[in-house]
Amino acid sequence: MSRRHEEGQTVMAKWPGSHLWFHAKVLKTMEGDKYVVRFEEGTEEEVAAHHVLSESYFGRSGSKSPSRRRSRSRSRGRSPGRTPRRRSKSPGIKTPKVTKANSSGTPARGRRESPRKVAKSTPAAKTATPEPKGRASPEPKAKSSPEPKATSTPAKITKMEVKKVVEQKSEVVHRYATRSSTNKELVPGLDLKPGAVPKTTEYEFGGPVGAFLLTFLLPATVLYLYGVCNKAHCDLVFVPHLPKTLDAYFNTNAALVFLGWFAFQALIYMLPIGRLADGVPLRDGRMLKYRINAFFAFVVSLAAFGAAYHYKAPLGWVYDNYLQLASTATAFSLLMSVVLYIRARRAPKSALSPVGNSGNAVYDFFIGHELNPRIGSFDLKYFCELRPGLIGWVMINLCLCAKHYSEHGQLSTALTCVTLFQALYVADALWFEDAILTTNDITTEGFGFMLAFGDLAWVPFTYTLQGRYLVDHPEHDLTNVQAALIVLLNLLGFWIFRASNSQKNAFRRNPYDPKLQGLESIPTNVTNKSLLVSGWWGLVRHPNYLGDLIMALAWCLPCGFNHVVPYFYVIYFTILLIHRERRDHLVCSKKYGAAWDKYCERVKYRIFPYIY
Ligand code: NDP
Repeated sequence: MSRRHEEGQTVMAKWPGSHLWFHAKVLKTMEGDKYVVRFEEGTEEEVAAHHVLSESYFGRSGSKSPSRRRSRSRSRGRSPGRTPRRRSKSPGIKTPKVTKANSSGTPARGRRESPRKVAKSTPAAKTATPEPKGRASPEPKAKSSPEPKATSTPAKITKMEVKKVVEQKSEVVHRYATRSSTNKELVPGLDLKPGAVPKTTEYEFGGPVGAFLLTFLLPATVLYLYGVCNKAHCDLVFVPHLPKTLDAYFNTNAALVFLGWFAFQALIYMLPIGRLADGVPLRDGRMLKYRINAFFAFVVSLAAFGAAYHYKAPLGWVYDNYLQLASTATAFSLLMSVVLYIRARRAPKSALSPVGNSGNAVYDFFIGHELNPRIGSFDLKYFCELRPGLIGWVMINLCLCAKHYSEHGQLSTALTCVTLFQALYVADALWFEDAILTTNDITTEGFGFMLAFGDLAWVPFTYTLQGRYLVDHPEHDLTNVQAALIVLLNLLGFWIFRASNSQKNAFRRNPYDPKLQGLESIPTNVTNKSLLVSGWWGLVRHPNYLGDLIMALAWCLPCGFNHVVPYFYVIYFTILLIHRERRDHLVCSKKYGAAWDKYCERVKYRIFPYIY
């Protein structure tokens, strides 16, 4: 190995398992093109030589780095346990050093306050937990390695400290990422692959044939539900009763209302209101900015609805033109997907989606060819994901209420329940808007027909089925006791859904969050990722799905038991989440190996306790 860096030299080193570069000091030169470095806040790591660069490479030689302001962090790093951790000593999965007491009963040192304990699962922070690292450990699943043991989650690092470190580090990576992308000179070793996105080799949804069929089947389902469940009847029949004239599906007013709604939401999205959040780093090192103002858009939309109601706008028109609006939304999403696909063909190869780049036009059109299609700073996928469809869903429900009220002079308890339950769900999604930036939809899926249709047509026009049913069948209502029980059921579902999602998010952001004190976790062979094995995630493997499904049931129960079609949502959603859980199980099994097996052994049930 050619020694490019001397021991004691200050360098820039890449944080293992991330795209982030930070100041570090070279402690030791190792065999096999590696260095042992100490990052500024005290963490010592073995880093491949090509992930260690001189400071001058970043144009900051000797300059004061933003991250050098971390004097407080550094002073807190005087931990007795600062000897370099050599993963090579034990390639297997280890129990984290951070435990309450070791086997001999002596207090564990790991619980001392130390910046080394800052969680790395946050974008840039790092934990002192000596979890074996997939990359660094040549044989992560060696037979001799001890079984991964659950450990208590320590809680010595405060949220503020983590936030500070994360912010400082984000600042650094952002600066370097931007520099590299604007100068078109990418930092070598920065695991960004500026070249073409590799071809998609694994198909989902039955490949091109499945994608082709779904392109017709999904819109057909929206029409089918309208055809089998309307004012005249609500029965599952093979051939639905649908109108046969074109104007029953399309009219100018519906097109104008749809486009007006889309433009209204786009306008709010573009307002310089709300903070800008960073997306995850892209292949070329850039991080896109996203405007966080979906909840504001929701409030403005509710206010606009209130004004329209006050000025006696004909809100029941939405119910009367439901089919036309659904058809327009479908046609619009189809047209948009075609334009997106054509546009994507001309996009840089590095801007494509890794899962929508098969070379098969039908498949790529369906999954989405380009990852982040934008017009200037207007991000089409991000915009469609949360705003026109999701807020539109609540608006349609409110218009259905207006229709019902205008016909009966009062609102049924059942319709009120459904409207409020679903509004709560949407408000929650919009409130936690930035959580979407790390989901697969944003980071991996392209923007094609699947998402465009799902966002703009499927969600607003299938999820409002219960509301429409209750307008069409006003004879059905709930007693106070029934309503109270259903409200409790919905609140139970919401509580499980929100609490479990928040618990996992908090744990992924900072395993040392004081709120998580006492929770057990299993270390894994993936750098800084443990698995919660108590709390909500010790109840079942997907408590958030459980909560979501309980809510789905609560949204259907107000429709009574006369017809099965209004239960479409909970049936479809159960199938969707069971399928999703299976997929996630395979992914986690592959990613976490023995630790995942151990987790599954501890937590037997997937979604429903003692049932499934
Ligand atoms: P999850 O939020 O459950 O994420 C699964 C990931 O969580 C795993 O891949 C793993 O990722 C991590 N994980 C799993 N087990 C543990 C554990 N024990 N401890 C710590 N981390 C763990 O799944 P989704 O993204 O599918 O769902 C998010 C939410 O969205 C859910 O509430 C779901 O109900 C809802 N949803 C709603 C839909 C709708 O149409 N309304 C559709 C789909 C989902 P890693 O280890 O890499 O962090």
